[in-house]
This record gives sequence, C-alpha cells and structure tokens, in this order.
Amino acid sequence: MTTEKAVVVFSGGQDSTTCLYWAMKRFGEVEAITFDYGQRHKSELEYAQRIAEKLNIPHRILDMSLLNQLAPNALTREDIDIAHEEGQLPNTFVEGRNLLFFSFAAIYGKQIGAKHIVTGVCETDFSGYPDCRDIFVKSLNVTLNLAMDYGFVLHTPLMWLNKAQTWRLADELGAFDFVRMETVTCYNGLPGDGCGECPSCKLRRAGLESYLAERQQEEGMNA
Ligand SMILES: [Zn+2]
Repeated sequence: MTTEKAVVVFSGGQDSTTCLYWAMKRFGEVEAITFDYGQRHKSELEYAQRIAEKLNIPHRILDMSLLNQLAPNALTREDIDIAHEEGQLPNTFVEGRNLLFFSFAAIYGKQIGAKHIVTGVCETDFSGYPDCRDIFVKSLNVTLNLAMDYGFVLHTPLMWLNKAQTWRLADELGAFDFVRMETVTCYNGLPGDGCGECPSCKLRRAGLESYLAERQQEEGMNA
C-alpha cells in the first residue's frame, strides 16, 4: 500500500469495478472517472455513480459526447448500414477511443496529483480492438510522460486474464458478491446477471461458471 493517488477509468462494469477494488488495495487515495459518450443505456452512468458512492470513491463524469461527431455514422455514411440490433455493439463505436479516454484520464490525474492511471483493458478477450493491446498501453504511457513531463504509470491489472481469472481476482480482493450484484455489463442495461441473452451477458456468465467450477474443485481438494 502506498500513499500515492490513483485515477481509475471506470464504467461501472465488471472489469473496471474489479480494477477499482484493486486500486483501493494499493493506493492511499483513489478517484474514479467515467466518460459519458452517449452510452446506449444512460443507466450505465447511474450504476457507475451508485457503485462509486457505495465504495465512497470520489467520482467524476466527463462529457465526451463529441465522440459521436467522429463515429462512422450510419445516418450520414451510405456504406454503413443502420445496425442497432439488440445484443450488438452500436455502430457508433469510435476507433482509438482508449487513446482519448486514457489521455483525458491522465490530464485529469495530473491536475489532482495522481500519477497512477488504472484501466481494465484486456488483450485476452478483446483481440479485435488495437487500443486494448498491452503494447499500445506501454506506448501511450511513454507518450503521456513526455507530453506532460510527468511520471505516469498506467496499470492494467486485467491485461492477461481471461473472464474466469477476472472473477478470481475479484474474489481474492473480497469483491466477488459486490461485483456480481452491482455491476452492469449487459447490452440491455440490466445489472448483475443481466438479461442473460445478449453476447455480453453470455460471455460474463461463461466466465463466472468456469470460475465457480474451478473454485468448487479447489474447495473439494482442500476439504
Ligand atoms: Zn444482457
């Protein structure tokens, strides 16, 4: 445990809530920052706010609605179908989003004297997003330190974990029940175990079941 300050890039989902607990164990002061970029469900922001309140973490929501101006917009581009089906990522996803989010988190961090920036990005499950890769985060870390002449350390505790291992980490941090009940990862905006039907719920449940099976086996061996 250090007395240093950390900023957690926080969405209110399973991954970033686990990161919040991870940071609370390590740093003397922790703040959470959430980006409002017109999430499909406004309730995500409310859940994020509620989690931060319950954990007594100062929380800031930054308006990033300008991202919608950069998104490949199905309404203005003929080559993109309007795809906003249930269970799909909206086709307003912005390339390089983490580049922007982590940079804004760092600018905010420096203002409040926080060197440590914590994010839940993960290369294991999201190989499709180049700005979730470890090499990108390491590269940005150097760039931010040069850009602001400041000794930032970007932390990615989930980088090499699969979903089952992320549940294990939450459990080790004493956060298993909280993460399971209070976080929202569901594309339909439902907290906890969610709707159970969307791809995000299915991924989350597969990881949970795999971790619970491992845990049961370990408990059996120790009995
Ligand atoms: Zn769902």
